Amino acid sequence: MAGAEKLESVVIIGSGPAGYTAGIYAARANLAPLCIEGYQSGGLLMLTSDVENYPGFPEGILGPEVMARFRKQAERFGTRFIQKNATSVDFKSWPLKVFIDKEVILARSVIVSTGAATKWLGLESESRLLGKGVSSCATCDGAFFKGVPLVVVGGGDSAMEEANFLTKFASTVTVIHRRESLRASKIMQDRALKNPKIRFEWNCEVEEILGDDAVKGVKLRNLKTGQTNEVKCDGVFVAIGHEPNTGFLKGQVELDEKGYIILPKRPTTATNVRGVFAAGDVQDIIYRQAVTAAGSGCQAAIDAERFLESLH
Ligand code: NAP
Repeated sequence: MAGAEKLESVVIIGSGPAGYTAGIYAARANLAPLCIEGYQSGGLLMLTSDVENYPGFPEGILGPEVMARFRKQAERFGTRFIQKNATSVDFKSWPLKVFIDKEVILARSVIVSTGAATKWLGLESESRLLGKGVSSCATCDGAFFKGVPLVVVGGGDSAMEEANFLTKFASTVTVIHRRESLRASKIMQDRALKNPKIRFEWNCEVEEILGDDAVKGVKLRNLKTGQTNEVKCDGVFVAIGHEPNTGFLKGQVELDEKGYIILPKRPTTATNVRGVFAAGDVQDIIYRQAVTAAGSGCQAAIDAERFLESLH
């Protein structure tokens, strides 16, 4: 375990495909990286069912299983883990400082790979009914809804994936989308559009989630006509995207207007702070795939290794 006295060579903050891959590469470079993996380690793939597009697994693999393999591989070469959240950083002085509440970890280089978190609709009824029928994770909660109608909000790949997955349990799944064309990739669209259990409400937003102690339905507003209608359902799965986990970095690393880390020296993973690198969804608004996150984790570890060499 790291203490205030020890100076770490590489501290990795975050533990999805990017963080674990950075761990594998930094550990194999004999840098004994310390990975602050968070209370919810493994990143967003822990909330996914079948991962069908990660190369090397032609039959697909479960998200949690592939992340357990990543972690094991990082551990095998000497990555150390702390299962807590980094709460703040001080990158204004040297060495770099990463805080876990009051505990401080000193580092010569830091790789930030904290990923992105689920976006919510922001309704009072949504937070009140969270865990009482409102969810952001079909894999986690889908099985609680056998034989009942469900709603999925969103028009991207996540929404299509959740909708398709939920038809294993639900009687019907209604997808609520605010436009009349989907953002999802063609293959995911086709699967959802062909699924006889899935129906769509186009040009609609959820005005309210109905129910006192459990979800009973949703009140929709048609954005073209202004008309409202209600759809009965027992569960609402919100799948409208993600936002980067960079709150703890504010004022310390340059972020864009959406909060993603800016990498001013692309194609390297260097941030605007000397010795601080970023990998994975926290700096990637375009690709956001496990395989691209893993690739950038590898790049960040190599960048950190070269930076450390330059200090000699
Ligand atoms: P996304 O592509 O950003 O899509 C978000 C969807 O939610 C969009 O349709 C958006 O509508 C809608 N939305 C956003 N904010 C909303 C709000 N406040 N109210 C109502 N609707 C709202 O996010 P994602 O689906 O999570 O996908 C993120 C990335 O991961 C993508 O690159 C995707 O390809 C990838 N992904 C891949 C897979 C896979 O390959 N198996 C699975 C999941 C995700 P608009 O379309 O109008 O903007």
